[in-house]
Amino acid sequence: MNDDNAADKKDAKHKAAMQKQKASVDAHIAAADTERGVALLITGNGKGKTSSAFGMVMRALGYGMKVGVVQFIKGEQLSGEEIYLRDHCPQVEFHQMGTGFTWDTQDRSGDIAAAKSTWVLARAMLQDASFDLVVLDELTYMIAFDYLPEDDIIEAIRCRPRDQSVVVTGRGGGTALQEVMDTISEVKEVRHAYNNGIKARRGVDY
Ligand code: ATP
Ligand code: MG
Repeated sequence: MNDDNAADKKDAKHKAAMQKQKASVDAHIAAADTERGVALLITGNGKGKTSSAFGMVMRALGYGMKVGVVQFIKGEQLSGEEIYLRDHCPQVEFHQMGTGFTWDTQDRSGDIAAAKSTWVLARAMLQDASFDLVVLDELTYMIAFDYLPEDDIIEAIRCRPRDQSVVVTGRGGGTALQEVMDTISEVKEVRHAYNNGIKARRGVDY
């Protein structure tokens, strides 16, 4: 077979495969006819949970939507997304739990009090239909550490306004939380630079 023939055959095969894929995608798009907000859980041990949530913040802002962000664990380090939102997006309602990482503070009752007052702010967003997107960053740890009642969180997510989307991030997130989520993605660690002695990088890790 000459080269031209082989290339034609490859083209035809590619076209047939693409047609098949398009038919399948089109069928799925046609079948998905419910229009409402989505609840997402981004979990797993790999890097990319919080940055995925902020990717959705950017998408929503692109459409002029109203966005709320609540971070349940605040690092020592300022993050680039925090600096950017505070400087350039005053329309984004942004709250952080005023404590460091829990393994740094080692003050359980202080952490619980901070978690509870932060949750009041988050719950208010989940009851406010003017918010199109609410990000609850690192919320899963509040459930895992038993700082906040899981039932209250699930109830608030379930009863939120119909058109509001909510993104929860953090490792874990038990089966009860998973039940209320429409989309669950697990970010799997294949490798992390940190394990080869590479320092957390500004603009990449924070
Ligand atoms: P990111 O904010 O980069 O999307 P994340 O939200 O998935 O990360 P967290 O568990 O919240 O991950 O940790 C945040 C910080 O820890 C980031 O600096 C990130 O690079 C780092 N990190 C995330 N996963 C790992 C890992 N598996 N090993 C070491 N460091 C990690
Ligand atoms: Mg995170």
